[in-house]
Amino acid sequence: MAHDAREGSIEVITGVMFSGKSEELLRRVRRALIARKAVQVFKSHLDDRYSGIHAISSHDGRRVEARPVSSSLDIAEQVADKVEVVAIDEVQFLDTGIIEVANRLADRGIRVIISGTDMDFRGEPFGPIGPLLAVAESIDKLHAICVVCGDLATRNQRLIDGSPAVAEGPTIQVGGSETYEARCRHCHEVPSSQDDQMRLIEDFQPDELESRGRSQA
Ligand code: ADP
Ligand code: ZN
Repeated sequence: MAHDAREGSIEVITGVMFSGKSEELLRRVRRALIARKAVQVFKSHLDDRYSGIHAISSHDGRRVEARPVSSSLDIAEQVADKVEVVAIDEVQFLDTGIIEVANRLADRGIRVIISGTDMDFRGEPFGPIGPLLAVAESIDKLHAICVVCGDLATRNQRLIDGSPAVAEGPTIQVGGSETYEARCRHCHEVPSSQDDQMRLIEDFQPDELESRGRSQA
């Protein structure tokens, strides 16, 4: 069936980790499969959460593989001619070329469904997500529950050994020992390593040194 050029569009599902973005992406993919659309699913190779679950299936037994990719070019090269729906999970890990790739696919008449977290652990826009929100036809921002206070969570809290990670850490930590929690704006903590040094300086008592100096004299 030829594509109607006016059918193509970009839908973005965004929000904090644990807000159900992947669940929502898979729900849309399942429904596209039920509608007998030709669907392709891509996800960043940095996401190992579903190692083992590389296929999404609908109740009527139709299946689609989620292909791991490392760049927007990977996606551009792998999209098949007859595809009608392209879904991309964990888009925050991809390069900014994904904005042009998504636009071109949508211009070709393809329904592009994109999911990704909108902020890094510091609360700053993550990778290509800002411009993607700008060019999208539709945006859904989902919320999780703040594990500290129970309000709606919007922020990704990075923890290292159970303590809030400092802002100077890398945005993407591959194979790190860190964990993440969903938190609201008010419970989100991003200390700076400079704050730690300032605290050491503030805590320092010159009297101590003076008395130590005196005792040595
Ligand atoms: P995302 O793709 O946004 O990271 P997922 O679709 O992988 O989210 O997971 C969503 C699921 O995470 C929820 O259905 C719920 O069972 C679970 N979950 C774990 N922690 C939380 C939380 N703090 N708030 C809401 N859901 C949570
Ligand atoms: Zn909170």
